[in-house]
Amino acid sequence: MTMPIALNDITIHSIIEQEGAFFDVLGFFPALTKETFDENRSWLQPELVDRADRLMLCIQSFVIKTPHHNILVDACVGNHKPRPTRPFWNMLNSDRFEKGLAAVGLTVNDIDYVMCTHLHTDHVGWNTRLENGRWVPTFPKAKYIMSDRELAHWTEREKDNPASVPWITDSVLPIVAAKREQIVKSDFAFNERIQFIPTPGHTIDHFSVLVGKAGDDVLITGDMIHSPLQGKYPQYGMMSDYDSRQAEQTRHQVFDRFCETSTIMCASHFPAPSTGRVRRWGNGYKFVAI
Ligand SMILES: [Zn+2]
Repeated sequence: MTMPIALNDITIHSIIEQEGAFFDVLGFFPALTKETFDENRSWLQPELVDRADRLMLCIQSFVIKTPHHNILVDACVGNHKPRPTRPFWNMLNSDRFEKGLAAVGLTVNDIDYVMCTHLHTDHVGWNTRLENGRWVPTFPKAKYIMSDRELAHWTEREKDNPASVPWITDSVLPIVAAKREQIVKSDFAFNERIQFIPTPGHTIDHFSVLVGKAGDDVLITGDMIHSPLQGKYPQYGMMSDYDSRQAEQTRHQVFDRFCETSTIMCASHFPAPSTGRVRRWGNGYKFVAI
């Protein structure tokens, strides 16, 4: 299904910042062997893994438009941010994100809430922008909703070694300094039709966002999964996981819950259109295009 997705009077739109092959697939999933990868090439290549064996990823945000609010879920990589260990994200200077917002009829002034599924570099970048040499909230009217334990974890890491987490310094702490944060538990219910589901493992207190009513709903996964390969093999952690065993359990719990139902997954890093329904596939799960 291409975007937008309509759920009664709510619509969900995708805002893409980047699409491409950034990481070698075997490095990205450390437990994936060459042998198992070779067995799966036929369904993975070229759409999900390119011919050079690099994982195809989308870097995107989702906008949830309700009659009352415009909500941004995650905030991509952002512009002018030094990311020395990630050349493809270092000092970006792109208008694609803001053009994407404009394409769905919005400017930065129209965003009421930013929901941060977790605090990794490719999800918090547009939280802030550079203004006169200072990092200020990109969305001046927005509250930024973050999990309490997630924020505490990364704040502590930043205090210990700021050079190891530059995105916390330039894209998360300025939100707190500007008093724009709203700190919640990872099972927070924003309202009857927008609820967080705790999906820990990839980070310490990651959440996914369930939108709609049972039978007519969408789960914005965030990074509880990065590739359909982790559907077929839920045990494969990715290289930056906080706890890959817990991430595996999360995938089983959440995909068991939504398997064989009508719930649409918006899987943040899957190549566009990044949507599908979950079906059983051996001990794992398949994403069926809709
Ligand atoms: Zn990510």
